[in-house]
Amino acid sequence: MDQGVALRRPTAKTAERPAPAEAVEGYEQRIAQLEREVRRLQPYKQMAVIDHLTQIFNRRYFDSRLEEEVARMSRRGFPFCVALVDLDHFKKINDTHGHCVGDLVLREFAHFLTQNLRRIDVVCRIGGEEFAVIMPDTDITAGLVIMQRILEKLLHHPFTIQNHPSIQISFSCGIVSNALSFKNHNAIVDEADQALYEAKRSGRSQIMARNC
Ligand code: GH3
Ligand code: MG
Ligand code: MG
Repeated sequence: MDQGVALRRPTAKTAERPAPAEAVEGYEQRIAQLEREVRRLQPYKQMAVIDHLTQIFNRRYFDSRLEEEVARMSRRGFPFCVALVDLDHFKKINDTHGHCVGDLVLREFAHFLTQNLRRIDVVCRIGGEEFAVIMPDTDITAGLVIMQRILEKLLHHPFTIQNHPSIQISFSCGIVSNALSFKNHNAIVDEADQALYEAKRSGRSQIMARNC
């Protein structure tokens, strides 16, 4: 029996396949369409990680960046600090000046914090009057010095908001470095939260540090 290669009949699919030039044109059109779609979605991608009021990073971004830093630490051993910052008696600012002024104070503070940190630091608003900073490649001694310098400066830097001059605020801060271990995201935030709680309990307007 003849074992030669049987000639396949063209199927409906292969018969309809476009000529190479047409196929390339089709792909180009598809790529252009996808590029338009990426450009259209870009602002939404940005919105997903930016806090609307202060225009700094939000909690979602903080969580994902912290995961990345934890991974970097376990791969390469680079220490980093996380500082949780909570404005002191902020309710009183709202009660005294109104909620709208309170909003503007939050915005000014976010700007102040960003201006006084390095470009590599990640400044986020993680709750109402709560902020977090991730400081890559920073040990606890350096992180503490940085946050103390910022608090000191803030205490000499009253904000002027609309016709409300000299709005003085302070913050309490818990700062941790994971230089000594490979703790995960939640454990690091818990430690920083406990340090922040200690700073509040000890009278506010101060920073508590710990290695974890
Ligand atoms: P503490 O020193 O213990 O942190 O006191 P606090 O008053 O800052 O803390 P508390 O948790 O009692 O109140 C938080 C205040 O922050 C009350 C809330 O209205 C205000 N706040 C939270 N989010 C916003 C916001 O987006 N805008 C304004 N204007 N105020 C906010
Ligand atoms: Mg709070
Ligand atoms: Mg507060």
